[in-house]
Amino acid sequence: MPVPLLTHPELPIVGRAEKFPVRRIYCVGRNYLEHIREMKEADERDPPFFFQKPSDALVSNGKVPYPAFTDDFQYEFELVIAIGRAASKLNTEQALDCVYGYGVGLDMTRRDRQRDAFKSGLPWEIGKSFDHSSPCGPIHPVSLCGHKLTGALELSVNGQVRQRSVLEKMIWNVPEIIAQLSRQYRLMPGDLIYTGTPDGVGAVVAGDRLVGTVAGLEPLVVDILPPLLPHASASLD
Ligand code: MN
Repeated sequence: MPVPLLTHPELPIVGRAEKFPVRRIYCVGRNYLEHIREMKEADERDPPFFFQKPSDALVSNGKVPYPAFTDDFQYEFELVIAIGRAASKLNTEQALDCVYGYGVGLDMTRRDRQRDAFKSGLPWEIGKSFDHSSPCGPIHPVSLCGHKLTGALELSVNGQVRQRSVLEKMIWNVPEIIAQLSRQYRLMPGDLIYTGTPDGVGAVVAGDRLVGTVAGLEPLVVDILPPLLPHASASLD
């Protein structure tokens, strides 16, 4: 049998022919107060925390098949930071120096499985880290869009606004996220950081179209497709 050939996940870069190669996908949990309140599962004083998705969960073509093993597939619309140089143990004054650019992404979540794991005190991977769970739009270099510290973000599903907030409402802002994460891991070129979602999260079904905008960035358009495999319900009866 021949050795399998793997393709590297990558994203287009606005205004450039090269692609942005994706190394790791980090996500921030609980970074907007109203979202913590709607989830009713955490103390508002808890610090945000980080989890990872596999880099091959990246979706760059806007096509997301409804995943197996859930009956509650939910969107979380988020600003995404793209890291351009190695960095560790940064303070907040240094943090923006390692940013290559920004994009808009969806942290797609099997909410029923995430809640099961939360109740049982088990890891979150089953709810968060699965195929096609990380759609992301093109990366805008900082030289084009500046640093995204303020401005509106909004997600519509089938033309109806479901999430609407501003980046200023992040509990931990972009430099603070980078500084914190850089104390836990060595950040490397190609790392993406999903910065957390505002309130208004909800479920989608096959046929839905999601359009997410962050002021100053190209919108992200994602279509939910029928499942690739026969739908595996989690119920045992
Ligand atoms: Mn999220």
